[in-house]
Amino acid sequence: MRKPIVAGNWKMFKTKDEAVQFVEALKAITPSSDKVDTVICASPILLDAVTETAKNSDIHIGAQNMHFEKEGAFTGETSPVLLQDFGVKYVILGHSERREYFYESDEFIAKKVQAAFDHQLTPIVCVGETLDEKEAGETTQKVEGQVQAALKPLTEDQVKQTIIAYEPIWAIGTGKTATAADANEVCGAIRAKIASLYSTEVADAIRIQYGGSVKPDNMEELMSQEHIDGALVGGASLQAESFGKLLEAA
Ligand code: 13P
Repeated sequence: MRKPIVAGNWKMFKTKDEAVQFVEALKAITPSSDKVDTVICASPILLDAVTETAKNSDIHIGAQNMHFEKEGAFTGETSPVLLQDFGVKYVILGHSERREYFYESDEFIAKKVQAAFDHQLTPIVCVGETLDEKEAGETTQKVEGQVQAALKPLTEDQVKQTIIAYEPIWAIGTGKTATAADANEVCGAIRAKIASLYSTEVADAIRIQYGGSVKPDNMEELMSQEHIDGALVGGASLQAESFGKLLEAA
C-alpha cells in the first residue's frame, strides 16, 4: 500500500508573512504523517521562514527547483547543499514551467535528480504533455520518455523513493482537469514503463501524483484511482483551508 503524498506548489506567490501564517494555520489541520505525506514547496527566499515555522509538525518543506552543482559561479541559482542546510526535504524538478520558460532539458533535469539524492532530498519529477501532443495521441510516448530520461542516473532503490508528478500542461492553472480515468490511465502507463525498465517491485513502490487544476471538489475522485498516489497542487494550495481539504480527501 503506497502512502499518499500531497504537495503544494506555491510557485511565485506569497510574502514572508503570508507564508508563515499559512504554515501556522496548516499545522493545526494537517493529518498525521502516518496517513499522508504533506509537503509545501516555496520560493527559495521563503525556505528559512517556512522550515522554522513547520518544525516539529507533520509538514515537510520542499523547494521548486535547484541547480545540480554543490557550489560555483551560477548567478541566481540555489544549490542542493543550501536546501539541505535549511532543512528542506523535497525538491520539485522538471516542472513544465521550468522546461518551457527556462529551457530545461531532460538531460539537465536528470543531473538535478541525481544531485537531489546525493544531498538526501526527495525529487518530485514532473512530466506531462502539451495540448498539441495530447491531440496527436502522443501523451504516453512523451511522458514515458521524460520519466526514463529523468530516472536514468538512479539506482533501483532511488527510483523507488522518487515521486513522479504527472501534470498535463493543458490542465495547469486552466481549470481543466484531466478526467480521473484519463489521469489514471497515464499514471498506469508510467507505472508499466517503470516495471519494464526496472521491476514490478520498483513500479509498485514508486508514488505517482496527478497535478493540474486539482481542487477540493475533484480530489476524492482522483485519489480513488488505482495509480494515483497523491496530488501536486498549484492554485488550491495557496489557502490553508482548501489545501487542508485536499489533505483530508487524500
Ligand atoms: P494548478 O493546480 O494551479 O493547476 O497548478 C498545477 C501545478 O502546476 C502544480 O505544480
